[in-house]
Amino acid sequence: MNNFQMDLSPLGSPASIIEMVASQLACRPVDEQVALHLDEEDGLKHLRQCFHIPKVKDLPPTNPALVKANENCIYFAGNSLGLQPKKIKTYLDEELDKWAKAGVHGHFYGKRPWALADECIVELMADIVGAHKGEIALMNGLTVNLHLLMLSFFKPTPDRHKILLEAKAFPSDHYAVESQLQFHGLSTEKSMLMIQPREGEETLRMEDILAIIEKEGDSVAVILFSGVQYYTGQLFDIPRITKAGHEKGCFVGFDLAHAAGNVELHLHDWEVDFACWCSYKYLNSGAGGLAGAYIHEKHFQSVKPALIGWWGHEYKTRFHMENM
Ligand SMILES: *Cc1c(COP(=O)(O)O)cnc(C)c1O
Repeated sequence: MNNFQMDLSPLGSPASIIEMVASQLACRPVDEQVALHLDEEDGLKHLRQCFHIPKVKDLPPTNPALVKANENCIYFAGNSLGLQPKKIKTYLDEELDKWAKAGVHGHFYGKRPWALADECIVELMADIVGAHKGEIALMNGLTVNLHLLMLSFFKPTPDRHKILLEAKAFPSDHYAVESQLQFHGLSTEKSMLMIQPREGEETLRMEDILAIIEKEGDSVAVILFSGVQYYTGQLFDIPRITKAGHEKGCFVGFDLAHAAGNVELHLHDWEVDFACWCSYKYLNSGAGGLAGAYIHEKHFQSVKPALIGWWGHEYKTRFHMENM
């Protein structure tokens, strides 16, 4: 193994980094040496020890030739459930123990009071998406948050009634948009505007996105894009799409399921109006992990939650029980 140190950060795309490493190691970009070298240089490599990695032999058998192998899996499925952190058992045991010993007091007692379980991670999450602490909430699942945000931001009028999104958006987002339109008595034919890649191309060109916003923007109420497209991996230019949408008077929101924890985000500075994401993809949480919702603070006065319960109500008085 070579022992030279490389500063990889300013080099741009993953492909150019791999090519540079390969040329320094005098091998091909696809050689194992390159991957091993990148592992060796990885500042986060110690974190691998913190996770359980399934063994091939413990998985449901698919290929009989693999069943005997006592090897670790190569785990690429972080998109729907990450590897189990080794500390999970300890944390869960602590909470079960607290429930056994303190019962209902667990809601507001101990180092992780259950009723406030979201609050101890808000600051960390605000950093990840580039928002102020007060602009985000951790709650529900992603699609529920998308609906709640759309209920507040999608207020169609006869002149401005469309939602613009990518063609082949994530199915759940597509259904959510369809049902938002139906909820307002609008037809998908007239009000669901989808932008397609050019014939023979997989990804969307920025110039085409800007062109459709320019052409249709006056009738678009909400632009809803993903940050990173789940299928093609395309990273959209969030600040440019946001700016273009604002110039046409649209609200601009992003589904960051594949962007949160994966790419750098500055939702507040980019003036994104709203966003949602989940924590079980690049953020590696487990089943039932809380999803996120963000609203830019410039909307705090004008955009109100459409549906209110404990958690949509004023924080300080929500438990006062004075409304009977
Ligand atoms: C994973 C994913 C979702 C999932 O939504 P859930 O409500 O958590 O099931 C939604 N949108 C996108 C773009 C996703 O990648």
